[in-house]
Amino acid sequence: MELLTVNFLFNLSLLIVFLFFCIMWAEKSGKKRLDKGTAILYFVCSLVLCIIFSYRLNEGMVLDLRIVPYLIGSLYMGLSPILGLLIILIRAFHGFDIGFYIGVVFYGLFSFLLWYISPWFKKRTPKFRILFSVGLTLLVSLLILVGIEIIAPPSHSLDLWFAYLFVPPLGVAMISYTIEVSENNILMQQRLVKSEKLEAVEQMGAAISHEIRNPLTSAMGFLQLLDDDLLHVEKRNQYISIIKEELQSAEKVIQDYLTFSKPMLESIEVFSVQEELNKILNLLQPTANKNSVKVASDYSSFNLIEGDRQKFHQCFINVVKNAIESMPNGGELSITTFANSSHVTINVQDTGVGMTKEHIERLGEPYYSTKGNNGTGLGVMVAHSIVRAMNGTVNVKSKVGVGTVFTFTFHLSLQNEKNPTN
Ligand code: ADP
Ligand code: MG
Repeated sequence: MELLTVNFLFNLSLLIVFLFFCIMWAEKSGKKRLDKGTAILYFVCSLVLCIIFSYRLNEGMVLDLRIVPYLIGSLYMGLSPILGLLIILIRAFHGFDIGFYIGVVFYGLFSFLLWYISPWFKKRTPKFRILFSVGLTLLVSLLILVGIEIIAPPSHSLDLWFAYLFVPPLGVAMISYTIEVSENNILMQQRLVKSEKLEAVEQMGAAISHEIRNPLTSAMGFLQLLDDDLLHVEKRNQYISIIKEELQSAEKVIQDYLTFSKPMLESIEVFSVQEELNKILNLLQPTANKNSVKVASDYSSFNLIEGDRQKFHQCFINVVKNAIESMPNGGELSITTFANSSHVTINVQDTGVGMTKEHIERLGEPYYSTKGNNGTGLGVMVAHSIVRAMNGTVNVKSKVGVGTVFTFTFHLSLQNEKNPTN
């Protein structure tokens, strides 16, 4: 193997060793994912490493692997403006000759292009991302080689071609593969945690049914007391109302848990979204008043949907209640619906405390609550499972200190054509 190839392979191994330490550091410090700060540090240091260990071909020509950290950092993290600028700055130390200006034009244009395509790139599949990065590196290497051959044909061309066509794509493949694998590990871990929690909820369902025995046993006791023919009417009425209360509390406990573990729709009927939402608003009006929350609503005329009215009610009680609770010092709650030819969209918007991105990601996890003893962390989870069972969708947008919008969509019922409500 000749000199340049050996030099490049050495350079590459430095990058890999450095990457290894960065990943280890991120894991040890509990961050799991490389955050932007660590990523910038890694790519900037790698670039400098490449330039320090560059290979001087002849007087005016310095060759190195800078393209590897530059491309990966640009595509995966959108760092092309920083990395491009750094390369140009370092090159400026060698003097402002023709090579410098070619560099400015090349890295300027290329950085802009990479910055532009980075968001698109991040949405592709892992396999596509790896192939795309390797392909792009190969293309850039080819361009550089052709450029060198035209400007200053080197004496040992074979070594140069081999080093440039083989090592940078190999480096990019190794680093992007490592990034994808560690990304995948994190995703798997998150999924595992979620499914473990769901399992816990199922177990809890079984535990809860135990709890239901208490009110049932007490109701049964009072029923037996009612059996006495000589019982005074007053006492009789008192017992009956106790029995009712006990049964209601048992029912309430069952409802939330069953809805989550088996979100089956029991009775399917066509109903008006507007009617149901108005009922919910009436029901929660006292809570809204207590928090000085102003309520506004605006409904589209097409809003008949098909599903389980009871479950729909339960879902929106949870969501609207959360919205009101997010505004302890007053605010505005607005419920609007609008429809297109096939779907109705329901927006529940508040001007409450809002949520961070991490908050939103955790919504729907069992027991996730920020309300301490006043919260169960089951409301949103139950709402999600009901929406899923009704083939609807939920989307949450929120900003801390500004407010939150929950957006739901459901299929419209075909009966809308016949009798739109106004
Ligand atoms: P709980 O209301 O018992 O806490 P939920 O499942 O209903 O449980 O809600 C979970 C958490 O989601 C709440 O504790 C709160 O932090 C957050 N949340 C839900 N809706 C909103 C909202 N509209 N605005 C701000 N935070 C919300
Ligand atoms: Mg709640």
